[in-house]
Amino acid sequence: MGAGDNIDMTSQAAEDLLGRLGQLLGGEAVLAPDDDIERYVQEPRGRYRGQPLAVVRPATTQQVAATVSLCREAGIAMVPQGGNTGLVGGAVATGRGTEVLISLERMREIRRIDAEGATLVVEAGCPLARVQEAAASAGLLFPLSLASSGTATIGGNIATNAGGHMTVRYGNTRRQVLGLEVVLADGRIYNGLTELRKDNSGYDLNQLFIGSEGTLGIVTAASLALAPAPRQTLTALVGLDSVTAALGLLRLMRSRLGETLSAFELMPRLAMDYVLDYLPDAHDPLGRAHDWYVFVQADSAVAGRWLHEACIEALETASDEGLARDVVVAGNNAQADALWRLRDAVPPAQKLGGVSLKHDISVPVAAIPGFIEEAQAALAEAVPGIRPCVFGHVGDGNLHFNLSQPENMAADAFRATEAECNRIVFDLVSRHHGSIAAEHGIGHLRRAELARCADPVRLELMARLKRTLDPDGLLNPGKVVAAS
Ligand SMILES: Cc1cc2nc3c(=O)[nH]c(=O)nc-3n(C[C@H](O)[C@H](O)[C@H](O)COP(=O)(O)OP(=O)(O)OC[C@H]3O[C@@H](n4cnc5c(N)ncnc54)[C@H](O)[C@@H]3O)c2cc1C
Repeated sequence: MGAGDNIDMTSQAAEDLLGRLGQLLGGEAVLAPDDDIERYVQEPRGRYRGQPLAVVRPATTQQVAATVSLCREAGIAMVPQGGNTGLVGGAVATGRGTEVLISLERMREIRRIDAEGATLVVEAGCPLARVQEAAASAGLLFPLSLASSGTATIGGNIATNAGGHMTVRYGNTRRQVLGLEVVLADGRIYNGLTELRKDNSGYDLNQLFIGSEGTLGIVTAASLALAPAPRQTLTALVGLDSVTAALGLLRLMRSRLGETLSAFELMPRLAMDYVLDYLPDAHDPLGRAHDWYVFVQADSAVAGRWLHEACIEALETASDEGLARDVVVAGNNAQADALWRLRDAVPPAQKLGGVSLKHDISVPVAAIPGFIEEAQAALAEAVPGIRPCVFGHVGDGNLHFNLSQPENMAADAFRATEAECNRIVFDLVSRHHGSIAAEHGIGHLRRAELARCADPVRLELMARLKRTLDPDGLLNPGKVVAAS
């Protein structure tokens, strides 16, 4: 049987499997299609809707292992799910009644915090926000920061190698992971849950599972590295004329602030307009409109006022050099939160612009202005009136290259241009040596595009790894890569 094939399972065989799962885990842990399973089957953007045979909610690693063993015996595919906030259709079933969806939501325990070693061991279904709170309560920082942190789980963050606002300083999730516990496709438990910061005793197998989107194993627990908690923070919003000026500002801030620069987020005026319309109580923090904006944050674990002074000096230099046209600096935490609220509201606010065709791409930082200019010109020619709403984590080259519907075009007509827009954007990404999936992953959405754009040797190695770790193609079929 190949990945993604529909399995001809008789209703009797399905009933037997559900019965055995119920006996093993307890009736409340197994939800059938006629139970209330809506939140597990619909992904956030509404693009994909699954139809799993059942939703299974194990409470321990042993229960996950036993669930996998039973499904494997029955030849039934499995879809791991955390908070179901993923944006590429990776966490929902793709077949019709052919997959069991395994939700990790009951595995939420923080097993241990070691304040001296600055590590934390946590179960995969724990929401990211709880991990952040636990770290803070030990006087430390877990530096992964996403707008979905209340719902997204640490297992999902690891499976997608999530990025977010603070990647520019702390790196993606991968950099925070010290060890993993994973249930393999054959039901065995791989115990790589080390808390060591140095371990060169052979291949680093943990890395295989990070970013594998549930296709190589089910993460059940992780040990994470924590950072010192900030004791000074500065947040500012800068108005600029161009993306080139934003890169000039990035270079300047890095040279003045060094490693304390922890976020550098770009957004265009169109996004600011959407956000100001979307948030009824929000107002434009700057005196006049600018073509582009950058949100800057700097943090230091060393107490004092020196960071504030260094930032102000750097921003004054940026003004003198014509990089920054206007700046507002948050005077307290509430003002900083109000600024970040504007940035975090961009994805939902964009709906005010009608249909949005989204691309989560990255290119080398220096290539960003040229890439944006070329892509905008090619898209305007293909779809006159198209409104690019390009924002994101520009400090690490990651842009959400989103395209709002032209004002004079019907939604369906715009949707019909998606394949052409994707081709224009992704071909240019390849030409600039970038990635077609910078942080959300491949999932179901970008599988064909990966097959088209990726290096054939890389694809072949990925398929070989998939066959090695999941020879029957039962883990999250139809996602990321085909096994053959
Ligand atoms: C408002 C909003 C803002 C977002 N901002 C960002 C952002 O800034 N940066 C970013 O990178 N992403 C962002 N995302 C996307 C999403 O939140 C991340 O991809 C997140 O890491 C997914 O976590 P989750 O628990 O919801 O995983 P899910 O959506 O449940 O699953 C995602 C993938 O991981 C697999 N998976 C889940 N749990 C496990 C497990 N325990 N073991 C193995 N595989 C598993 C699933 O099968 C699926 O393929 C955002 C999403 C939203 C809705």
